[in-house]
Amino acid sequence: MLHGTIPFSRLNTTGKELQYLSQAIESGNIAGDGAFTKRCQNWLKDYLGCQKVLLTNSCTAALEMAAILADIQPGDEVIMPSYTFVSTANAVVLRGGVPVFVDIRPDTLNLDEAKVEAAITSKTKAISPVHYAGVGCEMDAIVGIAKQYGLTVVEDAAQGAFAQYKGQPLGTFGNLAAFSFHATKNIVAGEGGALVINDPELVERAEIIWEKGTNRSKFFRGEVDKYTWVDVGSSFLPSELTAAFLYAQLEQSEAITQQRLRLWARYHLAFASLEFEQIAQRPKIPANCQHNAHIYYLLVDSLATRTHVLKYLKDNGVTATFHYVPLHSAPAGQKFGRTSGEMTVTDDFSDRIVRLPMSANMTLSEVDRVISLVFEALDVQVTVGNTTHQDYRQRQPVFRAASGVVA
Ligand SMILES: *Cc1c(COP(=O)(O)O)cnc(C)c1O
Repeated sequence: MLHGTIPFSRLNTTGKELQYLSQAIESGNIAGDGAFTKRCQNWLKDYLGCQKVLLTNSCTAALEMAAILADIQPGDEVIMPSYTFVSTANAVVLRGGVPVFVDIRPDTLNLDEAKVEAAITSKTKAISPVHYAGVGCEMDAIVGIAKQYGLTVVEDAAQGAFAQYKGQPLGTFGNLAAFSFHATKNIVAGEGGALVINDPELVERAEIIWEKGTNRSKFFRGEVDKYTWVDVGSSFLPSELTAAFLYAQLEQSEAITQQRLRLWARYHLAFASLEFEQIAQRPKIPANCQHNAHIYYLLVDSLATRTHVLKYLKDNGVTATFHYVPLHSAPAGQKFGRTSGEMTVTDDFSDRIVRLPMSANMTLSEVDRVISLVFEALDVQVTVGNTTHQDYRQRQPVFRAASGVVA
C-alpha cells in the first residue's frame, strides 16, 4: 500500500469558515473591532468567565500588551521558563525588562514552581508561567507566591486553550493571559491570539493600548464625546477576516479538542510498552489537569537517538520535530536575560524530545503509521546499531532526569 506524507501539523477547517468570511465581506466592514471580533470576544469571555477578552494579531502581540499592562520598566525582572517560545521573553525585553529563566519540572516540562521563590529579587515584577503542551502549570503555588510578593502573573497560555487546571480553564488564573490561534495551534486563525484580562483594574487601560493608545472604545460606547491619544499603544487588533475565520473554529472547539484527545490517547496507549522497557518516556498529565492534546511527544534516551528517529520518520514521509533551543542558551537570551539556578532538566529534555504529528483531522491509520515507524526507528537502533547507546538494554534509562536517580 502506498502512503501519502504525514505533515507535522495540517490545517483543520470546520466547514463554516468561508461562510463567515463571506458574511464579513458582505457586511462592508473588514477592519477590526466589528461584529465577528465582538462575537469571538464574547464567546471566549462566556467560556472563561473572565472580565474581558481582546482579540489580537497573535499571542506574541497579547504578551506585548500584557508587558505594558504589567508596567514592566527598564531593569524589571520577569520569571519564566527557559524552555519556551521566544515571545514569552521578547515581550519583556521590548519594555527593557529582564527575563529570568528558571528550570522546568521533569514531569510536565512546565515552570518548576518550587524554584520560583529563589529567583525573586527586589526587581521582580511578574511571573510568566507557560502551560506547555496544554498541561496546566501548578497555578495554586504560582499564584500564591505572586500574592505573597505582590507580583503580576501573566499566563502564556498560547498552547493552553480549552484545557483546565483543577476544573478551571487555563487563562483564568493570572492577572492576564495570552492565547494563540496561530496555524500550528489547536484552534486556528492563521495568525491570531487573544489577551484575557482577569484583573478588573486592567480592563480600561487594556482597551486603550489595544486601540493604539486612544480612548476609541469609550468613544464608541458614548462615554466620551471625542476620541484622542491618551496612552501608549499599538495596532494590536486583528481584522474582521481573521475574527470571522476564528469564530468558525471557536464554535467547534469542543469537538476539535475531543478529536485531538482521541488521537493523543492512541499514541499514548501504543507507547506504553516503550515506557515499560525504558526506551522512551511518555508525557505525564497530573491528576488535577485536563489537557487539550496540543502536543504528543516522547523523550528518548539521547540526542543521537532523537536525530535518528526524526530522520527515519522523515525518510518515510512523516514530519516530526523538536523544540525549543533553551532561551538561556540562545544568543539573545544570554544578552538580555539571566538564569536562576541550574537548568539541568531544560538542557537535558530539549536534546531528547521528539514531537510527533498531531492535527484534529489526522486519521487513525495515519496515527498508527507514525506509531509503527517510531517502533521501527527504535528497533533499528537495537538490532543494527553497534555502539553502546544503540542497544536499548544498555542505554541510559530515559527516566534519569525525571527520577533524579542518575545525575
Ligand atoms: C505559539 C506560541 C507563542 C506565540 O504565538 P503566536 O500566536 O504565534 O504569536 C508564544 N508562546 C508559546 C508558548 C507558544 O507556543
